[in-house]
Amino acid sequence: MRYFDKVRKTIKELHGIRCDFCKRYIFKTDSFELQEIIQITHSCGYASIFGDGNEIHLDICQHCLKRILKNNKIKIKDILIENQI
Ligand SMILES: [Zn+2]
Repeated sequence: MRYFDKVRKTIKELHGIRCDFCKRYIFKTDSFELQEIIQITHSCGYASIFGDGNEIHLDICQHCLKRILKNNKIKIKDILIENQI
């Protein structure tokens, strides 16, 4: 038989995310915008220009990502149209 103590714990709950480009704050209640945030986490390797062992953390809203992709002429596939062909 197992015996347990009752304990209170404090947990961290997401309140919102700030886009690292436009600095717009997206509240957790804005679920449609929140679900489109792109999060990049990268551990830099030996030859990295950012420094061996450093980490990059980035949150980008969908508006900034679209602007970055468009400015660099990176194509966004329209899956609905592509599946109809
Ligand atoms: Zn943004």
